Amino acid sequence: MHGFDFDLFVIGGGSGGVRASRIAASHGARVGIAEAYRLGGTCVIRGCVPKKLMMYASQFRDAFEDALGYGWSIEGSFAHDWPRMVTARDKEIDRLEGIYRELLDRAGVVVFPGRAALDGPNRIYVDDQLVTAKTILIATGAAPVRPDIPGANFMATSDDIFSLRKAPTRVAIVGGGYIACEFSGILRGLGAQVAQLHRGKQILRGFDDELRDHLADQIIRRGVDLRCEIQVTAVERAHDHFSVYLSDGSTLDVDTVMIAAGRQCATSNLGLDTVGVEVDGDGAIKVDQFSCTTNPAIYAVGDVTNRINLTPVAVQEGHAFADTVFGGRPRAVLHENVPNAVFSQPQAASVGLSESEAKAAYPYIRVFGSSFRPMTAALSYRDERALIKLIVDASTDKVLGAHIVASDAAEIIQGLAIAIKAGARKADMDATIGVHPTIAEEFVTLREAR
Ligand code: FAD
Repeated sequence: MHGFDFDLFVIGGGSGGVRASRIAASHGARVGIAEAYRLGGTCVIRGCVPKKLMMYASQFRDAFEDALGYGWSIEGSFAHDWPRMVTARDKEIDRLEGIYRELLDRAGVVVFPGRAALDGPNRIYVDDQLVTAKTILIATGAAPVRPDIPGANFMATSDDIFSLRKAPTRVAIVGGGYIACEFSGILRGLGAQVAQLHRGKQILRGFDDELRDHLADQIIRRGVDLRCEIQVTAVERAHDHFSVYLSDGSTLDVDTVMIAAGRQCATSNLGLDTVGVEVDGDGAIKVDQFSCTTNPAIYAVGDVTNRINLTPVAVQEGHAFADTVFGGRPRAVLHENVPNAVFSQPQAASVGLSESEAKAAYPYIRVFGSSFRPMTAALSYRDERALIKLIVDASTDKVLGAHIVASDAAEIIQGLAIAIKAGARKADMDATIGVHPTIAEEFVTLREAR
């Protein structure tokens, strides 16, 4: 124990911190963890899980409408009860939080409810309690940011949206990233009139350009008023609504303004300066391939390092850190070919390189693609088109990237990610027999390069 209270002290009980604590404890380390809010972190409490549950809730509108085309008659009207959804969702989140607590207890990890900050080497204050540890892991995640405009305090972040007790009816969503696209679909599906406002040229920066254009078109066809190259200049509170002032001179009157235009690493007030842990220009903690910071006794994983900000990545980084430092198995996480899904409506998902990234990295590429009306929409009145796309290195035939816009895109991409990770070639895909009739089978029937 070297005279310390713990072998490892973890700051932040989210995806990365909880996994690291449990694995380090399983390697025999005595572990403490501080959590300022609720165990489970962003993913469980105010991210992936509540959002996905709300996405499921929102999809029934399409299902009811589609059902008519398939011969169903729906007597009367259908209505959604927002408070009932919130109660059910929150009950599930409480259950998951309980599971996280149980897992930590069973692993022998000591949980400190409270906000932690470093106070010089090996010293951590959790609120006003001092603890000492030989090794420290920072896994404090990130938090939503508001723009610097008048009335920004009237904007609801994704955290606030989860606490709305009443269904919004007219919403402006500011942002073009995955969270904005997901909530525009969720809130529209739950009956709101939605305007999505994005200052960039196209939504989903970093994704394949064709996927971006296709999804934007689908979002618009589903009834979202998606506007790009527009900025919110101010928000004003009126008697029973908010007025959103836009850079083109127009104004939108809504009851909810959601801001989903970026997140900031949670590094302020952590006492990093007392231990020589450096951050980059965006406030992200600088780490090496083993997640070690500029102080060799302090590590950092997850969103606070701003590598790839997804739950499975934070979990892998936390696990690899614990194996490296406490399991005698040095392990770096490879941040390549990480699959990524947007739970928009329809969904979008990608793994590997986009067409433009592949063009920049390889002298010759082949691009295969297809856009088609999916069978689910065959008998419904919905105007939906799916997109699938493969990028292949022409010299080696290796598949470099796969991209999908379709209702089950997130489920489809996982299998493709395994294939690409294993080094699949286009010939392997061609030799694979499809599952018929599915959207996924299109990936093994793409014959002609564009
Ligand atoms: P977090 O899970 O954020 O955990 C950090 C924890 O540290 C928090 O619980 C916080 O309270 C605590 N903390 C912070 N400061 C302190 C302190 N000083 N002392 C003590 N505790 C502290 N990812 C996906 O893979 N799929 C998705 O579908 C997805 N959807 C998302 C939807 C939304 C709306 C959001 C916001 C995020 C979503 N993400 C998704 C991203 C995912 O939630 C994060 O990548 C993941 O939670 C990062 O894990 P982490 O351990 O780094 O941080």
